[in-house]
Amino acid sequence: MKVLVINAGSSSLKYQLYDMTDESVLAAGRVERIGMESAILTHEPAGKPEVREVSEILDHTAAIRKVLAVIVHSEHGVIRSIEDIQAVGHRVVHGGESFRESAIVTPEVKQEIKRLFDLAPLHNPAHMMGISAVEANLPGVPQVVVFDTAFHQTMDQNAYLYPIPLALYRRHKIRKYGFHGTSHMYVSRRAAEFLGRKLEELKIVTCHIGNGASVTAVKGGKSVDTSMGMTPLEGLMMGTRSGDLDPAVVPFVMGKEDLTIGEVSSMLNKHSGLIAISGISSDMREIQEAMEEGHPNARLAFEMYEYRLRKYIGAYAAAMNGIDAIVFTAGVGENSWLLRARTCLNLAYLGVEIDPEANLVRSKEDRRISTANSKVEVLVIPTNEELVIARDTYALVRSEESGA
Ligand code: AMP
Repeated sequence: MKVLVINAGSSSLKYQLYDMTDESVLAAGRVERIGMESAILTHEPAGKPEVREVSEILDHTAAIRKVLAVIVHSEHGVIRSIEDIQAVGHRVVHGGESFRESAIVTPEVKQEIKRLFDLAPLHNPAHMMGISAVEANLPGVPQVVVFDTAFHQTMDQNAYLYPIPLALYRRHKIRKYGFHGTSHMYVSRRAAEFLGRKLEELKIVTCHIGNGASVTAVKGGKSVDTSMGMTPLEGLMMGTRSGDLDPAVVPFVMGKEDLTIGEVSSMLNKHSGLIAISGISSDMREIQEAMEEGHPNARLAFEMYEYRLRKYIGAYAAAMNGIDAIVFTAGVGENSWLLRARTCLNLAYLGVEIDPEANLVRSKEDRRISTANSKVEVLVIPTNEELVIARDTYALVRSEESGA
């Protein structure tokens, strides 16, 4: 079965085409600047040169049409006919409390995703546009939705409720949901496989550190706490997001600086974090380069970022009464040996000891970076959210077909 995985944003759309017989990626790519005359399609077919096309792509339906055309193109294509695509899987950021797992798209599921627009106003509407665009281009092909929040639905009330009037939870569903669930689930399962241990017996802290960053406490394979909250703003300091701060700062700044709700929200989401403190960049590579050149605010930004990550790992060791493994993943987690080294150095009290040479190895493979003496296993596991989406899509569509 060929499965197309789609991650639709408001003006961009990423895709991967999987052959599920061996889980190989036949093609990957993205469409950027949807809605503009000069939209860009970048298509990477396996074993063939990359293709880049600039053209007018005014909406998501046109974007999917373009993607399907290049996938079956006589020169750049990877399959003969779009009829070979038997299922489509979508990443959906917010599944609220309605979705504890992935689901086949039905009119009721679409209705529910729309109902959740309030909780993810930037993301869920874009995902719906992706779903409609696939319906228009591939009528009758089953679609599956895979939610970033689903893995965290196992959290207890004491972890997910905020200590504010309960009526707000009842009326507006204000609570912690957590995000990056697909990634936290994938790397925690891979960690157990790598260690040759049963997931049910392990206490793992998974650190998904990319542009957005979150830490999850995974106990017995279930998320028991996670650093992101009702929105992906809570928790760690990130590239452009503040993460945790005193909530009283918000009304205070609004009053002092005469800011609207939209402006203060944009400040916290887009103009905070690494970029705000360093004044240089939201990109960890550039922060590290500036630090090497002696830029004091780049160093401060890095130290604040590492300090907050370390505090969360310690907090989750407390939440689970100990940890067996720490996993680093995503752009920064997989690539920044410096962040891993600093973080782990300061976790010596937990018995964490990393091997400096193993930590320096650059690889796309799962790897251990702790020493044989370390009381806690420290692993680097490249995440693969698209593969999880492809697998869930394949499994759900097959089980529906066999049940039908
Ligand atoms: P992601 O959101 O997972 O794509 O991660 C993006 C982040 O990973 C950016 O902040 C990049 O700077 C960071 N990153 C990628 N490669 C490296 C590297 N070699 N060293 C440090 N950070 C990196």
